[in-house]
Amino acid sequence: MEERKHTGICFDCGGSLELFEFDIKKDTKILKCQNCGLFHYYKKDLLGKWKLLKVTKSQGETTR
Ligand SMILES: [Zn+2]
Repeated sequence: MEERKHTGICFDCGGSLELFEFDIKKDTKILKCQNCGLFHYYKKDLLGKWKLLKVTKSQGETTR
């Protein structure tokens, strides 16, 4: 199961991601790139798989 490791590869630069925030109630998590600092927002889908929702430069940034 992939949900255990909370890591991944940066969408932009390919650097490694570390867990930044995890919300178990909303089934969302935020991973941050250790290389370029991009935030990757993930949400768990109905099948229990993590889906990448969006990638932003700064945390808290929502739709423009
Ligand atoms: Zn990166």
